[in-house]
Amino acid sequence: MATLKDQLTVNLLKEEQSPQNKITVVGVGAVGMACAISILSKDLADELALADVTEDKLKGETMALQHGSLVLRTPKIVSGKDCHVTANSTLVIITAGPRQQEGESRLHLVQRHVNFFTFIIPNVVKYSPNCKVLIVSNPVDILTYVAWKISGFPKNRVIGSGCHLDSARFRYLMGERLGVHPSSCQGWVLGEHGDSSVSVWSEVNVAGVSLKSLHPNLGTDADKEQWKEVHKQMVDSAYEVIELKGYRSWAIGLSVADLAESMMKNLRRVHPISTMIKGPYGIKDDVFLSVPCILGQNGISDVVKVTLTPEEEARLKKSTDTRWGIQKELQF
Ligand code: NAD
Repeated sequence: MATLKDQLTVNLLKEEQSPQNKITVVGVGAVGMACAISILSKDLADELALADVTEDKLKGETMALQHGSLVLRTPKIVSGKDCHVTANSTLVIITAGPRQQEGESRLHLVQRHVNFFTFIIPNVVKYSPNCKVLIVSNPVDILTYVAWKISGFPKNRVIGSGCHLDSARFRYLMGERLGVHPSSCQGWVLGEHGDSSVSVWSEVNVAGVSLKSLHPNLGTDADKEQWKEVHKQMVDSAYEVIELKGYRSWAIGLSVADLAESMMKNLRRVHPISTMIKGPYGIKDDVFLSVPCILGQNGISDVVKVTLTPEEEARLKKSTDTRWGIQKELQF
């Protein structure tokens, strides 16, 4: 007997179509869900998949999003504990892993995450061999290296969210001081995401007007206006948010959706994100760090060569050496 659906419609397609623009978010914690809602609000995917090991929470979060479908433009929201739910993704975003505790350094988290990556990354590769992988879990630069090594993907397709959020925080704080919207405040935070990131004071500008040329002591101890504090505030604010609300979510969610937009729409915008960079700035090891990268449908296609001052370059090199010291000891 014909079902109500059969009576209502004539089906012209014999087979179900694969998604064309599927995004998967692995981890439905505070960060993963902020990524999910930010991606949904930007209409970036025809299918959103969520994966996590905590089944009840996963189901509840999925239902909460599905019930918003009426006002969304992402027709399919699916989830599952099993990795096959991630199949045919264009972009897989990894936010899963143990949460950073109050006062815990990002580097301390690393080995706890590596074991999880040895399980999840081969499954991502198996089900979506052509996807791009965006790592958000901390310590993001080291874990991007781990994901790259385990996946066997070319380096353009394994990307770390890196200093995208740090730069956004920097530009917000700069904008607050100047009374200018952050989008008009040009400033780049490069290197390692977090504690040893490098603010490139020599390039900070508004409408192409270099702040350093107007105020030569910018970013130095001799600066009477203490602009250096902006960098410190940027680093400290990550910990402050955890202290105040227990976790971070909205800013990283918005930041990740911005990166996803560049990839899903092939925008080729330049973002400070983590990539494998060997050669420039005296870097000789396989380390991921944030530099300005052109991001589009193939992931990172190009890296913009930034001219750093000798001091900025030395700081970049120092944080890279520290990271390599940890990275080379990792077992995976
Ligand atoms: P959370 O504890 O709220 O969520 C983590 C989720 O991962 C949980 O739902 C947990 O069930 C899941 N998970 C754990 N093991 C899993 C597995 N094997 N498979 C699938 N899911 C698994 O943590 P959070 O606050 O959402 O933070 C997530 C990560 O994001 C942390 O590493 C945090 O440091 C990082 N983070 C990064 C940035 C950045 O700028 N890169 C900013 C903020 C937070």
